[in-house]
Amino acid sequence: MTQHDHNHLIKDKMPLMISCDQTTYLLSKNQHEEIGFITKLKIKMHLAMCVYCRRYEKQIKFLDKIIIKIKSAPNLNSFQHKLTSEQKEKIAESIKNQENS
Ligand SMILES: [Zn+2]
Repeated sequence: MTQHDHNHLIKDKMPLMISCDQTTYLLSKNQHEEIGFITKLKIKMHLAMCVYCRRYEKQIKFLDKIIIKIKSAPNLNSFQHKLTSEQKEKIAESIKNQENS
């Protein structure tokens, strides 16, 4: 069964169900702004039965943690200047790998 078929099955059965596209969009939106209660409920219901979006949620939470860590570093500027371009590449690569896993 493809992911596309899977979406259709869910949508046809229950009106509260949203597609994977909508879920991933709303999850990333939720990182930056407050979303409504019903919308949160829809996301929760989708996540309860969709392994793809659960994986996506994990990834964006992981990335968010990294971003918060970097932002809250007291000596951010000196930290950045100390990184060699090779180190920067390694960081970018590890983020990329996380996205693809
Ligand atoms: Zn999904």
